[in-house]
Amino acid sequence: MWIDSHCHLDAPEFDPDRDAVLAAARAAGVGQMVLPAVAAAHFEPLQGLARAHGLAYALGIHPLFVGEAADEDLGRLQQALAQAAGDPLLVAVGEIGLDHFVAGLERQRQQHFLRAQLRLASKAGLPVILHTRRALDEVLAALRRQPLCGGIAHAFNGSAQQAAQLLALGFKLGFGGAMSFERARHLRELARTLPDEALVLETDAPDIPPHWLYRSAADRAGGATSRNTPAELPRIGAVLAELRGWTLEETARITRANTLAALPRLAACLPADG
Ligand code: ZN
Repeated sequence: MWIDSHCHLDAPEFDPDRDAVLAAARAAGVGQMVLPAVAAAHFEPLQGLARAHGLAYALGIHPLFVGEAADEDLGRLQQALAQAAGDPLLVAVGEIGLDHFVAGLERQRQQHFLRAQLRLASKAGLPVILHTRRALDEVLAALRRQPLCGGIAHAFNGSAQQAAQLLALGFKLGFGGAMSFERARHLRELARTLPDEALVLETDAPDIPPHWLYRSAADRAGGATSRNTPAELPRIGAVLAELRGWTLEETARITRANTLAALPRLAACLPADG
């Protein structure tokens, strides 16, 4: 059984066929997935979706959404975390972090939301799911200021030193479709050489399509879609297996154990035969 540790199944890209996407993921052997929130307005629909299908979820405000977030949204998060404290499907605070890749985002506001959400996670005793694009050192500095129970650095693409620092702080590192591209040499080297216990798998669906779903801008202009789905997780796992010389079974077992170590509450959300 595979776990997709990061999948935005509530995204509008899945509105036309969400049930079929979920059924295809389960048929492919993806026994559980974690749905991170991106904005306070999405908390309730996300929880509804997760509870309807027995899927794990996280609550948080994504750095790309803090520009449109109200200051009260942090209070809404605090309230939602308190209300869901007894919900076994709530496994983390996320997706939170910093994004210095997309231009025009207010860095101080991102920092403010990150620090406030790290405090809430610490208070709730929950791990965090981190988004760290072009901002890993700043995120690491924030993590060092706030005692936490670890979590997952999603779509990791830093240095070996940054990986070691995250591991020392109790974090696992999320790898997905980006490592399927031959030209992603640095990322593939990390996936090949990081310690076994560092790695978790994710799709980040509908984003980060693996190379077999990739469409050029010209193809997309012609109507081709490159939507990623959680059913791709086992094939992404096969990429990791090849890089590390693991069997598929070992890859599923090791990454599953790592995901459970990062998100302990997830253990109660797995199918009985998992
Ligand atoms: Zn995400």
